[in-house]
Amino acid sequence: MVTIPEQEPYIQALNPEWYQQKVSQVDMLRLDVIHPVVSGNKWYKLRYYLQTAKNQNARTILTFGGAYSNHLVATAAAANNYGFQSIGIVRGFHANETSTSTLRDCRDCGMQLVFVSREEYERKYDASYHQHLKEVFPEVYIIAEGGAGEQGVSGSETIAAYVPRDYTHVCLSAGTGTTLCGIRRVLPDNQQVYGYVPMKGGKYIEDEIDKYLFDEKKTGYSLFDDWHFGGFGKSTIELITSMNDFYTMNNIPLDMVYTAKMMFGIREQILSGYFPEQAKVLCIHTGGLQGNSTIKDKLIY
Ligand SMILES: *Cc1c(COP(=O)(O)O)cnc(C)c1O
Repeated sequence: MVTIPEQEPYIQALNPEWYQQKVSQVDMLRLDVIHPVVSGNKWYKLRYYLQTAKNQNARTILTFGGAYSNHLVATAAAANNYGFQSIGIVRGFHANETSTSTLRDCRDCGMQLVFVSREEYERKYDASYHQHLKEVFPEVYIIAEGGAGEQGVSGSETIAAYVPRDYTHVCLSAGTGTTLCGIRRVLPDNQQVYGYVPMKGGKYIEDEIDKYLFDEKKTGYSLFDDWHFGGFGKSTIELITSMNDFYTMNNIPLDMVYTAKMMFGIREQILSGYFPEQAKVLCIHTGGLQGNSTIKDKLIY
């Protein structure tokens, strides 16, 4: 049985040339190093769900995802490591077990993949659909898509232990916003939390985020959705070039879906003077490097 994290997260200073010394310091918290498959924030989001599943004597973990989902493959690997069977409900009939490297990795971790129509997939939050799934697959414990939900938020709170209190700004990419909620809940109010959403019009996640925050924390974060590069999962030459440049300067690989878009945005904000000169910025690398498989031939790493 593998234990996660395999390697403890650590903080790495970025090359001052990258931010042209417009702020006092920019560092990166490397959550991507904790495990080759269960990388970044996904493990923290999953940990309490898996604990609860154990306590309930569940044998199988069931969750939902698309053909490139970091959450799906992280769940497959974590479930396997903890001695659970796993089932992945995958969106769309266009895919099969071998159509993406993500799905191949899921299969290799022992996950049973069940492909459903887009209409059926849309029922992923319905209690009646969950009931149906529990009848078809006995003894399953269901985890929401993306690990969203209260236990995902409280699992994410544990990431804050790696954030020293002297950073003025803590930046991370936000998909469901679950990780951001956990971190916002724990950090003191004088640390700003910035969330970079890689979806077009992504600020809509604010409503979901606020459900998990106490009143005084609801104003303690900002969301930015300008850097979506065409939408979720989409990329441009400019984005890919920035990933290669970032790697050359900092020796850190970014993922195309989340962290590359965040770092592109942060750099633009820094160079345009959005952050005060004294700012000490911590960017959280939430992992997701497996998602780079589609642009492998364009990357220098
Ligand atoms: C899933 C994921 C996110 C988004 O996390 P949320 O808790 O859903 O906001 C950010 N970065 C990476 C690399 C991810 O895989």
